[in-house]
Amino acid sequence: MYDYDLLVVGSANADLVIGVERRPGAGETVLGSDLAVHPGGKGANQAVAAARLGARTALLARVGDDGHGRLLLESQRAAGVDTAGVLVGGAPTGVALITVDPSGDNSIVVSPGANGRLTPADVRAAGDLFRASRVVSTQLEIPLETVLEVARNLAPGTRLVLNPSPPQPLPAEVLAACDPLIVNEHEAKVILGDTAGAGDRPEDWARLLLEKGPRSVVVTLGGEGALVASPEGVARVPSVKVRAVDTTGAGDAFTAALAWRLGAGEPLAEAAAYAARVGAVAVTREGAQVSYPTAAEVAAL
Ligand code: ATP
Repeated sequence: MYDYDLLVVGSANADLVIGVERRPGAGETVLGSDLAVHPGGKGANQAVAAARLGARTALLARVGDDGHGRLLLESQRAAGVDTAGVLVGGAPTGVALITVDPSGDNSIVVSPGANGRLTPADVRAAGDLFRASRVVSTQLEIPLETVLEVARNLAPGTRLVLNPSPPQPLPAEVLAACDPLIVNEHEAKVILGDTAGAGDRPEDWARLLLEKGPRSVVVTLGGEGALVASPEGVARVPSVKVRAVDTTGAGDAFTAALAWRLGAGEPLAEAAAYAARVGAVAVTREGAQVSYPTAAEVAAL
C-alpha cells in the first residue's frame, strides 16, 4: 500500500576534499593535493544507503542549479533513489570544504546553501510523498523549522526517525514524534543539555532522553555497537568486529538501515542489530556513499 519504504528529508552536499601538509594560518596560502569531489550530506547519504540495501527510497531535498547539484542528483539516481522530490534552485548546492592533514584529522567548513532554503512550505507541498511513505527519516542539516514541519506533516501510521546531527536542543513537538531518536554520545549530551545526573553511562542517557518524549531511543557507540531503549526497557546491541578503515558516514548508513527494517515490521532491537551490521561493513571501506553495502554484502558479513 505504500509506494516507498523510506522517505528521507534532508541535506545534500558536495564534499570538496583537499589533502594538506598543514592548515594555513590567517593570511597564508598553502598548496594541497588534487581536489576530490564526493556526493555527501546526511540526507543524501541516508537515501543512498537505504536504496543500496533494496529499500524503495525517495529523497526530499534542495540542491542548486549547478554542477554540484547535478552530481548529487546523478549519485542518487545511480543508487536507485526516486529524486522527483529533489527541488532545484534558490541558492548554490550545499558544500563542505574539507582539508585532511597527514594524521587524518579533518577541518571542515560547511556552506549550507540550498539546504538552508528547504522550507516548511516545501514540506507541505510534498504531502503526496509523505502519504506514500511508510517511514520518514530526517536530520538537522536543514532548518529546524523545516524539521518541525516534517513532524507535523506525517501521515497517520507513518513513523519518524530522527538523527539530530549536527545537534541542537529540540522542541518537545519534534521529540514526541521520534520513534526512534538516534544519537551518538555527543548528540545525546547536547539534547540532554544540563539534565542533572546524565553521567557517563549510555544507559542513563537513553533513559533520560526517553523522558524527553521520544517513543524510543537508539544510542550509537561506534565500535562498541549501540543501545536501544523504549518504555519496555533498555538493551545492548553488540558491535560486529571488523577492521575499521574509515568511519565517515557510518552513522548515516546505520540510521537508514534501521529505518528501513523498522518499516518492514522488525522489532527495534532486531532492526538495530541489522543496522549495526550495515554500519560495520561501511567502516571497512573508504568514503561515505561508496562504502555502503548491498543487502547481499551485509548477509555475507
Ligand atoms: P558519524 O561519524 O557518521 O556521524 P555516528 O557517530 O553517528 O557516525 P557511529 O556510532 O560512529 O555513528 O556508527 C554507527 C554504527 O556503525 C555503530 O552503532 C556501529 O554499529 C557501527 N560502527 C561504527 N564504527 C564501527 C566499528 N569501528 N566497528 C564496528 N561497527 C562500527
